[in-house]
Amino acid sequence: MMGEQKSEPQLFNYAVNLEKRVRANHPLRQIKATIDFGFVREEVAHCYGEKGNVSVDPVAILKMMFLLFFDDVPSERELMKIIAERLDYLWFLDYSLDEEIPDHSVLSKARARWGKEVFESLFIRTVAQCVEAGLVDGKKLHVDASLIDADAAKESVIKSSPELIAALKQAYRATESKLEDTTTPESYEAVNDRLMSRSDPDAAAVRRGGGDSRPRYHHHRAIDDQKGVITAVETTPGSIPENKKLLGLIEQHEKNTGSKVEVAIADYKYGRQENYVACAERGTASHMGDATAKQNHVRSQGIFPESAFAYDPVKDIYRCPAGETLKPRRLHWANRTIEYKAAKKVCAGCLLRAQCTRASNGRTLRRHEKQVALDLARAQAHSRAAECDRRRRRHLMEASFADATNNHHFKRARWRRLWRQQIQDYLIASI
Ligand code: SF4
Repeated sequence: MMGEQKSEPQLFNYAVNLEKRVRANHPLRQIKATIDFGFVREEVAHCYGEKGNVSVDPVAILKMMFLLFFDDVPSERELMKIIAERLDYLWFLDYSLDEEIPDHSVLSKARARWGKEVFESLFIRTVAQCVEAGLVDGKKLHVDASLIDADAAKESVIKSSPELIAALKQAYRATESKLEDTTTPESYEAVNDRLMSRSDPDAAAVRRGGGDSRPRYHHHRAIDDQKGVITAVETTPGSIPENKKLLGLIEQHEKNTGSKVEVAIADYKYGRQENYVACAERGTASHMGDATAKQNHVRSQGIFPESAFAYDPVKDIYRCPAGETLKPRRLHWANRTIEYKAAKKVCAGCLLRAQCTRASNGRTLRRHEKQVALDLARAQAHSRAAECDRRRRRHLMEASFADATNNHHFKRARWRRLWRQQIQDYLIASI
């Protein structure tokens, strides 16, 4: 049966009024006044019966988990120990001085019983409040990602065939579902199919910089340009690249804020053809660094740039600087491009060959099926406005990640499994 924590602001046994003992500008006072944690009672009502033992109030539980990250308390056991000693925590939780503090296990049981949706709601509600307070403009969005160390040692990673790893993951899921109500959904995106951490099978073994490979998650984050409010987050295994989540974050931002994204800003890792085309088609300006330009910079040095070739949309051919015709030869399904080439013997006998190509079979051009949209997005990405936005992005994003890392236990998972890491990320983003 669901319990309810009653606030008693009047004098307590020891003539201590907690309301008066917490200073007027205490951050928790502002949070308590602003954030409505009460929504959780309705959201988790279905998890509690009508009869039986009275539970710890879900509002108090949610606030405890909030405190865990708000003050980066080392562990849940530690939090339960210090609550009794901290007047501000007691006041925030609506506990009296002599009230019994629950066992730390209530937190893990609540997470398993509630699932991640409650924490997602908390995050969405905080974003909505920021919008109401005029802290979110909604039109310019900065996107980035960061790797989070899973709560698993690198020695826990085993290597085997994809079939055996898939069977092991299935077995972990089955065991987990027997132990807890909430499990990692089977539909989440695939990770490296040859490696698996025995401690946390959802995390993927990936490297950060030149360091060791170890189990990690990827935290994908979008922040609004106006004040740096986090408006969208997604957590995936570490092997899911950041550029795959750009559109998902844009859509989540639009849903959470009710504003259409006019400009998407990110570094060159996001500046892929598929992201450029998708942004152009939805009317969002691409202020992302250009990954292809970065890759091609060295490779195409000293030879004719693609702009030296004229495209004829009526005949669907390119005309090269020597006046020869490059015709469509092959379709690349994976990246939605068509390959254009001149006949091998034409390039072989060409006087401009040394300036045009180093390939033995002649010059090749690739044209995306949505090349017009791609060209438009690329022009936006190379504009002066995009450069300014990317400079601002560095400052905003670094501040956002640094605050989360230094103050809110961002870089290391407290718990195991993807759904628990999602809870951690929602709580930190809410804070
Ligand atoms: S090498 Fe081939 S594509 Fe290049 S200029 Fe000569 S004929 Fe044209």
